[in-house]
Amino acid sequence: MKKFPKPAVVTSKCFEFDACRYNGVMIPNNFVQKLEPFVKFIPVCPEVEIGLGVPRDVIRVVEKKGKRLLIQPTTGKELSKKMYKFSDSFLGSLDTVDGFILKSRSPSCGIKDAKIFSDSENPSPIGRGPGLFAEKVLEKYPGSAIEDEGRLMNFTIRESFLTRIFTFARFRETKEKKTIKALVDFQSDNKFIFMSYNQTEMRKLGKIVGNQDKKPIEDVISEYEEHLNKALSKTPRRSTHINTLMHALGYFSKKLTSKEKAYFLDLLENYRNHKIPLSAVITVLQSWIIKYDEEYLERQTYFEPYPRQLIEISDSGKGRT
Ligand code: SF4
Repeated sequence: MKKFPKPAVVTSKCFEFDACRYNGVMIPNNFVQKLEPFVKFIPVCPEVEIGLGVPRDVIRVVEKKGKRLLIQPTTGKELSKKMYKFSDSFLGSLDTVDGFILKSRSPSCGIKDAKIFSDSENPSPIGRGPGLFAEKVLEKYPGSAIEDEGRLMNFTIRESFLTRIFTFARFRETKEKKTIKALVDFQSDNKFIFMSYNQTEMRKLGKIVGNQDKKPIEDVISEYEEHLNKALSKTPRRSTHINTLMHALGYFSKKLTSKEKAYFLDLLENYRNHKIPLSAVITVLQSWIIKYDEEYLERQTYFEPYPRQLIEISDSGKGRT
């Protein structure tokens, strides 16, 4: 059984942790529940932290002359300064963080779909955007695994989120060792993941660990981390997964019968046409990795990037890739 480090994940506290919503309720969330034994959650409710009680009157994002304000219409309170101050100090206090699960549509936590109004009275929104706490998260952690519960209903987005948080957690362990050898091993073991996400960045990462200029290890780690975030910033497409799987198939080209190869190519076609999940193709490859004792592939995190218990192929159908 593979061992996995525990990613540190900041989550909106109203998911499963506290009845802190404006109306005094807690929101049940299966994904957060399921993830609980495998990650270190850091729950936070920014609205409670800035002193708004539970229950409380609603607040809204108002945009005036290009400036975003957080207003409580019933009291006329303007809370932006407090919210930005809290967000900066909270995010600045975090030692390590590998991902965020935030509440959609919230004027504080929503990552892109909080309603934006032209003033505190007008009931019709003029657009949507991030809430004020999420705005600071996106600013401080560009390229990080930041999702809301709605997007995580989609299988592909959820799979990529899990892959990213567990890869970032493995990288944290790697960088603590502060050696080029540890970085080289990390690059080698995660190569197929990088191949499926972003081949250009994969090559850059390879160059960085090569360290031709003999830079100090701290500089190499920091440059590597920057490009690791870039490499994993976009959910992979089916076509890049197929390229990666074809590359893996190459390791068995002399060992498989023509019927076995044809069967695999047929599976890939079904995957390309959305008829089967990626895991169905990977399972076949894994059986060959075991049968032929293919050590290099066995070490590849691509084939098991996060604990199997977290695989859940239910899908909202939204945002398919
Ligand atoms: S969405 Fe954010 S601010 Fe609102 S209750 Fe949940 S944690 Fe608190």
